[in-house]
Amino acid sequence: MKKWLKRILLTDLWRGMRVTFRNQKPSLIYTEQYPAERPHVAERYRGAPRLNIHPENGETLCISCNLCALICPENLIVVISERNEKTRHKELIQFTYDLSRCMFCGLCEDACPVDALELTQDFEMASFTREGQIWDRQMLEEGPLPREYSS
Ligand code: SF4
Ligand code: SF4
Repeated sequence: MKKWLKRILLTDLWRGMRVTFRNQKPSLIYTEQYPAERPHVAERYRGAPRLNIHPENGETLCISCNLCALICPENLIVVISERNEKTRHKELIQFTYDLSRCMFCGLCEDACPVDALELTQDFEMASFTREGQIWDRQMLEEGPLPREYSS
């Protein structure tokens, strides 16, 4: 009987409406002024990937170990390297990262033994084409070019 009364009087609906209107106070509503004002993202936000370079000599920190590519559940990282016969070290030739398939889980940056790969706080990763979602080594090292917005 109580159940039927609740259904007839739509108590769940009114309870839901109360929550909705309680959170619609004008003092709680604000408009983000993006892109004029960039929003602050959470400290642990994982965004655009970056392949770090040495700040002094500009050489890549990546040692081409391929661990990031191996651990990625989406298999979206491709590391191409060749061995330098003189130094016997692997040298990075190309590094590609397909953003369109990334779920930003962070496993790749955790696996990197030299902190070369990093997921930064940059959230502007949109592009007009699917190809634009595939970032190559240069894009990963330099980051996307800053965009000029005009109103
Ligand atoms: S964040 Fe996750 S899904 Fe994206 S490249 Fe790294 S391991 Fe793969
Ligand atoms: S795990 Fe790090 S060092 Fe190894 S290939 Fe990936 S980015 Fe380079």
